Amino acid sequence: MPQLEAVIGLEVHAQMNTRSKMFCPCDNDAFGKAPNTTVCPVCMGHPGTLPAPNAEAIQKALVASLALNCTIQRENHFDRKHYFYPDLPAGFQISQYDFPLAKAGMVHFSVVDASGKAIGGERECRITRLHMENDAGKLTHHGNKTLCDFNRAGTPLMEIVTEPDLRSAQEAVAFAQELRRILIAVGASEADMFKGMMRFDASISLREKGTQKLNPRSEIKNLNSFKALEKALTYETKRLTKLWEESSGPLPNDITVGWMDEEEKTRLLRDKETAMDYRYFPEPDIPPLVFSEKEIAKTRSALPTLPQELRKQYAGLGLTDAQVLQLTDVPQLRALFDVVREKTGDSKRAVALVLTQLLGFLNAHGKALGDAPAPEALLELVTKIDEGTISANAGKDVLEKMVASGKNPSAIIEEEGMQQISDDTAIEELVAKAIEANPQAVESYTSGKGAALGAIVGWVMKETKGQADPKKVNDLLLKKLSQASSES
Ligand code: ZN
Ligand code: MN
Repeated sequence: MPQLEAVIGLEVHAQMNTRSKMFCPCDNDAFGKAPNTTVCPVCMGHPGTLPAPNAEAIQKALVASLALNCTIQRENHFDRKHYFYPDLPAGFQISQYDFPLAKAGMVHFSVVDASGKAIGGERECRITRLHMENDAGKLTHHGNKTLCDFNRAGTPLMEIVTEPDLRSAQEAVAFAQELRRILIAVGASEADMFKGMMRFDASISLREKGTQKLNPRSEIKNLNSFKALEKALTYETKRLTKLWEESSGPLPNDITVGWMDEEEKTRLLRDKETAMDYRYFPEPDIPPLVFSEKEIAKTRSALPTLPQELRKQYAGLGLTDAQVLQLTDVPQLRALFDVVREKTGDSKRAVALVLTQLLGFLNAHGKALGDAPAPEALLELVTKIDEGTISANAGKDVLEKMVASGKNPSAIIEEEGMQQISDDTAIEELVAKAIEANPQAVESYTSGKGAALGAIVGWVMKETKGQADPKKVNDLLLKKLSQASSES
């Protein structure tokens, strides 16, 4: 049995987060809306209506193409792709066939383990093309009835096709996650998997390791999550390996399979598939799109920092791979981290405050990230601690109360009387009281047991519910005790 390797390529559909649909002014945010309420004669495919391409969608697809290092086809056009299905009201999809928006891109990505640590080196996956098209409606099956909701019909999509450069289910998922990060970073898609905003078709074939031949492939249709993508590809790799062993070779022809989430296996949909004839022809109602070099250059220069570059910047701050991923993947956490780090110059402290304390409190109080304090409020907390208004320990309590109540630090400190006691006279009184109340510890200290000092400071902190400034207590106590011992 030769050593086999998997050869995997993906087709990804990502919904663009535009205000209106691809070819009509209908609301593009159909989430949670009553079925068939965000529709019009254009997206319902009524005869005689005319599609008008959405400039915002074209711009977003252009930005995404550049972020994927694609070459923009300065002249490209839309085509009609004909097929019949109940969720496709016009009887054709407006897509791009032989002149897509963008070609020949490249995505760099890393495979990470469960803890977020990068394993192996950086990988590459070439992008074959990126084109624009409109989404279909949605069918729901109830018993033997099928209901159509056309709210999604006409939603702008980017279809992104890769070369077969991926070698395992884990690589495919890592690539897809990086692609998702890029689309979110450039603002082209929210890519919310739960809302079906990003969907995958995965093609897989096997070959003997060391050969370059592409064998007939199995195409797994309609995978809606990273988990399904990983499970389906893992299953299909095993299944094709077993078939190879039994017939000493690859599949005899291309096949199309579906992934059954509940049974966790693939099911044959079509065998010996001949290329379906979609009778493509140029969309007669939309003129070709033409981009000038100047336009492309302008869009390129306005690209934000991409995730890979961002990770490099944060990795330079001495954080772990997992911390870097957390911060670069979640802009809200990053903004909180950034204000603390910029103010204090201390990455470790910013990590502890944001990734440990804040996330811990959000979790403990059953709050979402959206309930986290604003960066300004967190900055105020840090300032209160650094100015000595509250102790670092009290700062933790204040943060928890900020999460629980949504109030700002000053209000909480005021209401709860949490101000640190740092007034010299007050501390002197406290220290005198502490010496009186802890004769044994004082005795131990003066007889040379330095550690006894901590017990006396601890007594003061307990007495003041943590509000005394521990450094001042410590200093004054030392002074008092050394005076006492030199007097005796
Ligand atoms: Zn419409
Ligand atoms: Mn498509």
